[in-house]
Amino acid sequence: MQHLVDTTNLNRLQIDYILNDAKEFKIKKPIALLRDKLLITLFFESSTRTRSSFEVAAKRLGASVVHLDPSRSSTNKGETLEDTFANLCAMEPDGVIIRHEENTIPQQLAQMQLTSVINAGAGNDTHPTQALLDLFTIKEHFGDIKGKKIAIVGDIISSRVAHSNIRLLERMGMEITLVAPPSFMPQSNLPQVENLEEIIDKIDVIMSLRAQLERHATPVFENYDEYAKKYCITTELLGDRDILVLHPGPVMRNIDISDAILDDKRCKVLEQVQNGVYIRMAVLKLLFLDS
Ligand code: ASP
Repeated sequence: MQHLVDTTNLNRLQIDYILNDAKEFKIKKPIALLRDKLLITLFFESSTRTRSSFEVAAKRLGASVVHLDPSRSSTNKGETLEDTFANLCAMEPDGVIIRHEENTIPQQLAQMQLTSVINAGAGNDTHPTQALLDLFTIKEHFGDIKGKKIAIVGDIISSRVAHSNIRLLERMGMEITLVAPPSFMPQSNLPQVENLEEIIDKIDVIMSLRAQLERHATPVFENYDEYAKKYCITTELLGDRDILVLHPGPVMRNIDISDAILDDKRCKVLEQVQNGVYIRMAVLKLLFLDS
């Protein structure tokens, strides 16, 4: 039984398989490779892209998908998450795709060894398929990414996208600089700056992040317009530099990225979403067919 809790579960060969399969699926949609598989999605936090992307990916491969809405489930009646999960597993799905606000939940459920667990985002730490789709999008643009320089900008400390990407992109040879105000900066050995202008001439990619308001116990900034003056990715900031702009979504327009840059061809937000389906197809294939 194979799980995907973090990209650290994957060896280099498996990462290459995922990237290659995703590339092939993008060129030619495959036949229903997972026709006999049934997956359950269990999302304890809201999601627009990731949940629908997993569902589209599974259905493109011919699998069936059942969604359990936890706000209407018995975890609301006092059932523990482990019991809810064990009950779902008694229906013998091939895998459960889970999102949860706590970092360790996917790992805990995986250790129960009842079904394949796929992490669709946990707490502020792991979001493996997002990191893989970001890697795919960067590689699609540059080919060889070794030595390419990326600035991760925004609420890094609360972002599972940032933490997952830091682990994966560093492993793949990219050079990462963290760009954030002190209250959004995690403890890290990576280079850190407070102003993006300081390094704008040296970077190939910007990964902009949303302020994770739902993870802040008390508001960090009173006024995000002030924050935006320093951290919003704008035409004035980029000039005509050849820099790729990424964002995992949801984008806070004109706080994370300006309207003009969202319409600029350097901004790959919708390509990330498109690639996310192919990456998740490749992940499902790896977990259910290739292992
Ligand atoms: N969609 C991403 C996540 O689930 C990023 C975000 O919500 O800001 O973490």
